[in-house]
Amino acid sequence: MSSPPSIPQIDRLASSPELAGFAPTIAAKAARLAVAGLRARALAGEEIPFEQFVSNAVEQAKGLTSLKTKPAINLTGVVLHTGLGRARLADEAAAAVAAVAASHAVVEFDLESGQRGNRQSHVEDLLCELTGAAAALVVNNCASAVLLALSAVARGREVVLSRGQMVEIGGSFRMPDVIEASGCRLVEVGCTNKTRLSDFEDATNSDTGAWLKCHPSSYQIVGFTAQPDSEALASAAHDRGLMLIDDLGSGCLVDTTRFGLAKERTLNEALKAGADLVLASGDKLLGGPQAGLILGSREAVAQLAKHPIARAVRIDKLTLAGLEATLRLYLEQRELEIPVWNALSRTVDDLRPLAEKLANSWPGDSDVVESESKIGGGSLPGLSVPTLCASLKSSSADRLARTLRVRPKPIVARIEGDSVLLDPRTATEDEIGEVCQFLSELEL
Ligand SMILES: *Cc1c(COP(=O)(O)O)cnc(C)c1O
Repeated sequence: MSSPPSIPQIDRLASSPELAGFAPTIAAKAARLAVAGLRARALAGEEIPFEQFVSNAVEQAKGLTSLKTKPAINLTGVVLHTGLGRARLADEAAAAVAAVAASHAVVEFDLESGQRGNRQSHVEDLLCELTGAAAALVVNNCASAVLLALSAVARGREVVLSRGQMVEIGGSFRMPDVIEASGCRLVEVGCTNKTRLSDFEDATNSDTGAWLKCHPSSYQIVGFTAQPDSEALASAAHDRGLMLIDDLGSGCLVDTTRFGLAKERTLNEALKAGADLVLASGDKLLGGPQAGLILGSREAVAQLAKHPIARAVRIDKLTLAGLEATLRLYLEQRELEIPVWNALSRTVDDLRPLAEKLANSWPGDSDVVESESKIGGGSLPGLSVPTLCASLKSSSADRLARTLRVRPKPIVARIEGDSVLLDPRTATEDEIGEVCQFLSELEL
């Protein structure tokens, strides 16, 4: 059966001169995609010129050869946007990553002796100094830290967790599932709103492997609520020869009230309360690369470090470099250079000129409106800070938001009612300038 006249042969399309700059495999795939995309219209009788297949195939080839993991401009007002890669690194941390990425690097090598060294010793020293922990270990992310901690401490035994902390962090990270995947049996205690120390004590027997606390980082239980005091929980666990594992989630090193936010328990406070292992993410409020921080007693951390899962969830040189550089900024009290804290420290007065500049560059109707920026990323549930946004009116907010998203460097905004809201809080001066330029050139 021959094709209808307006559907070209794949080979002929793939060898058109406009595709000559692409690898033959890319050109062939682009040609197939272009034909597949236009086929229905051609079969319906539409006369589609060959040039249209060519230009479609060129677009397909460009799409196939462009990077999909690429920088974006976040104007959503969500400081730690998981879809947009959570924390953006400080300039020094990004430079540290880039430097070791394109080079051989000192990762597990002792320069004094010329022998194999310890991959973790630099970040371990920094983490201990910053948090007061006796020992530290860094793994791929907080989810793997939880998996490793439970597997190493309580495999084959029971893990006691409050019903108010049976958290789903998002996607497939559900506390009950992770406990099961670690080879432990979950023992739920208390009620959704209230759990007492005696609930933990009553559930404990010779099969108990550990007590677990989990920060309900993506929701809040308000009203008639109670959770046992951390210190009392830790000391009662120790009386029974058990470890208390505290999955803190966000991993905050600074006092959040400084930024007008609600109090978030810091890593130091969780350790001081007596938890044997405190687990946290590197790319939430810490503002570093994706990583899982494990802090605690020498004995507990050593037990994890020698478990086979530790090797399976080991961090690479890029994470090491980015994390070390981020931690050094805290050590030097330069946390305002860390984008998370820089963004959260900006006041409405700081943001006003930026929101006005964005609003004024849109050729259509616009306004500057009060709104809220959210922390996001499973930190500080329900918490937000007041912000100012440019509100762009358009005949179709969805279409305008899409136009902003699909440019080579995506601009991600938020839609509220029939307006597109642009929150400047998380953007640099340069990014704001780029957005303004793009907006000013848009057709209404
Ligand atoms: C975010 C979070 C995790 C998962 O952290 P990742 O670094 O994303 O793996 C685990 N536990 C809590 C309480 C969290 O908030």
